[in-house]
Amino acid sequence: MKTAQNVDMVVVGAGFAGLRALHTLRERGLSVAVLEAGGGVGGVWYWNRYPGCRCDVESYDYSYAFSEALEQEWRWSERYAAQPEILRYAEHVVERFDLARDIHLHQRVVSASHDDGGWTVTTESADTWRARFVVMAVGQLSAPKAPDIPGLDAFAGEMYHGARFPHEAVTFAGKRVGIIGTGSTGMQMTPVVAEEAGHVAVFQRTPNFSIPACNAPISDDEDAAVKATYRERRQAAQNSPSGLGFMPTKQSALDATPAEREATFERAWTTFGFGFTLAYYDLILDQAANDLAADFIRAKIREKVEDPLLAEKLMPRGFPYGTKRPSVDCGYFEAFNRDNVSLVDIREHPIVEAVPQGIVTADSQLHALDVIVFATGFDVFTGSLLAPTITGRDGQTLREKWSQGPQTYLGLGVHGFPNLFILAGPGSPSLLSNVLLSIEQHVDWLADLLGYMHAGRIASVEPTLEAEREWVAHVKARADGTLYPKAISYYNGDDVPGKPRVFMPYVGGVRGYRRLLEECVAGGYAGWAMQPTATAKAA
Ligand SMILES: Cc1cc2nc3c(=O)[nH]c(=O)nc-3n(C[C@H](O)[C@H](O)[C@H](O)COP(=O)(O)OP(=O)(O)OC[C@H]3O[C@@H](n4cnc5c(N)ncnc54)[C@H](O)[C@@H]3O)c2cc1C
Repeated sequence: MKTAQNVDMVVVGAGFAGLRALHTLRERGLSVAVLEAGGGVGGVWYWNRYPGCRCDVESYDYSYAFSEALEQEWRWSERYAAQPEILRYAEHVVERFDLARDIHLHQRVVSASHDDGGWTVTTESADTWRARFVVMAVGQLSAPKAPDIPGLDAFAGEMYHGARFPHEAVTFAGKRVGIIGTGSTGMQMTPVVAEEAGHVAVFQRTPNFSIPACNAPISDDEDAAVKATYRERRQAAQNSPSGLGFMPTKQSALDATPAEREATFERAWTTFGFGFTLAYYDLILDQAANDLAADFIRAKIREKVEDPLLAEKLMPRGFPYGTKRPSVDCGYFEAFNRDNVSLVDIREHPIVEAVPQGIVTADSQLHALDVIVFATGFDVFTGSLLAPTITGRDGQTLREKWSQGPQTYLGLGVHGFPNLFILAGPGSPSLLSNVLLSIEQHVDWLADLLGYMHAGRIASVEPTLEAEREWVAHVKARADGTLYPKAISYYNGDDVPGKPRVFMPYVGGVRGYRRLLEECVAGGYAGWAMQPTATAKAA
């Protein structure tokens, strides 16, 4: 058995959340070890190397706000940076803030157990850490789902998963490529692969809404203009519902005249990207308002796709716009006008099996393929949180505790799991927001809590059961006031069979959520039970 290493805090994961936690909490005087399963830093940007992968929140906003010097030095090349550039940024942050010395790569955490002395964290290679605090920075989209297609072992060609794409260049030149899945990954990948491949067959079960990225290079003048007012931009992001810097129109979509609505949607279409849902405040609240937005987007698809029958098949229907995470694309629908791109509607004719030559669908068609790329998504929100065995105060595991869905207080802590914190996970704005902003919001709040504990000689903290129950009920009540529960979506836990159907992120927005975090602090960390240190008890 290897000797345990002692630190104040173990952070699990070296994505943007883990890196920010390391930097900030180490600066506050804690010894921190970051344990990362992968062979590099950057989280999703390390793993998702598929062609076309890029952010869907603008680069200037999808970046750290904690260092003005970093903001000023870093030069984004495009409005929506591509994966290699975002990964370079994460690596630059590691170097610039001397983070590497506390990051341990190839260290997948398999268990974390609490006892009176703190936490014991064990990795796949049987390395052990003892720590007072554990921070789960394991991400929301970090547990890829294995494709569920019989006969895949028999397939004679190449197979890739978007979230485990090889580091080496993959060539599609002249090949027949099947892309399975039309969420963000499939939509980003299709036009780029089509440029190179002999033929691309897109296997679609559920068409999704997508807003054009209107991506473009950033000129020196634009860069200078953003950097001259970056603080204001950050403040606007922090004070906006989604962390994107703009507010929804106060008017109802139903009260606008058709001409006004068209103009508003048109402006949102070319500038808002992921934030199109904010074109009117009630798009996610009112089905009739939502229908207007959905009709607008379907009309756009009709305009973009030359073949009307194909356009019809690509149009999302049956769920409100925005209630499944919409994509932000660069030429997805237009790609279907190419001779070398075709659609396979697997709702009409489901996939039966893979055979050595390709994929067979229920209409007995063999779709001959040289390459299959799985864009089949993730076990979202809870996949990576529940993969390790996390055992709390009374021997209860997090898996047991969350068997009916995530139970947290403010998304940050779990009753029965003292001194364990979760960053940007379920119960917080998370994937309903600019996640990088939400990560920083969490880390700053946590740093202040730890400072408070230090000053007050508090040994351990955990949410009260009552506060947790109230928060879970509040998260549900807020979601029930929206259209989100109507969709079959990963927000509701519909991504994995057998997963409890619970709406997971917090719909209250980053601004509203921040107010609740501030209220909690103003109330002396209301809802958190604190245990004094032995010396504080004796005094
Ligand atoms: C392709 C893609 C594009 C995205 N684009 C955007 C965007 O434009 N805007 C936006 O707001 N959000 C976006 N997201 C969401 C994204 O999840 C967040 O923006 C953000 O990167 C999450 O950072 P994180 O550090 O919380 O998690 P991650 O980046 O997922 O990092 C978590 C890390 O934890 C590690 N880990 C997990 N389990 C263990 C374990 N047991 N032991 C050790 N290590 C472990 C993983 O290997 C991973 O490196 C995107 C996600 C994907 C997949």
